Amino acid sequence: MHGFWNLVESLDKYYDPTAPPISRDPFELVLYENIAYLVSDDRREKAFRELKKRVGTRPEDLLLVPVELLAQIAAIGGMFPELRARRLQEAARLARDEHAGDLGRVLSMDRVNARKALKKFPVIGEPGAEKILLFTGASPSLALESNGVRVLVRFGFAREQKSYSATYRALQKALAGEIGSKCEPLIKAHLLLKRHGQEVCRRSEPRCTACPVAKICAFPEKQQPAKT
Ligand code: SF4
Repeated sequence: MHGFWNLVESLDKYYDPTAPPISRDPFELVLYENIAYLVSDDRREKAFRELKKRVGTRPEDLLLVPVELLAQIAAIGGMFPELRARRLQEAARLARDEHAGDLGRVLSMDRVNARKALKKFPVIGEPGAEKILLFTGASPSLALESNGVRVLVRFGFAREQKSYSATYRALQKALAGEIGSKCEPLIKAHLLLKRHGQEVCRRSEPRCTACPVAKICAFPEKQQPAKT
């Protein structure tokens, strides 16, 4: 089987330069996860930028405004805006009370404690905490979202397990020796795998015949163009 970086390099050659993460600030990344639900990246980004413009992204900014205003902005990001508005303020209170308003403090903790601290925030689970530590440059890890998980499983790096979290762990274990110790290449890998999963290696009807890495993919059902 071809290696992880071989796959990433092939995707990098195929796709136009991928936009960098929206922020490198841990609290902003928490807000970014909470501002939208089940919408496209474009809408999530729009809601986040609106929050930044109309309210600000420091914990004290979010606690100064009425929750109704946050709900109005969160409505750009899809369903249940009131719930997400309350979560934004809950995140702000947690950052204020447990980190003196500066979530940047978690970045100097050891990895286990940093993950634990981040997982106290609304909707931040293990993958979300790892992504925040990766995007802020604090800790290199194979932080994946669902598209990346699907691509790597189809590619053959690990088998799908009974639960998503077990599959996630199986991939991390399988690739632990390959990922290296630098954040920037891993951020690029995260973004490229996500994009490949969204545009080509889609959940249903993957576009295997148009896939730039089809020749080195192990997906048993992939449909290659007929040989002439
Ligand atoms: S060949 Fe198909 S399954 Fe394999 S990476 Fe490409 S789109 Fe995904």
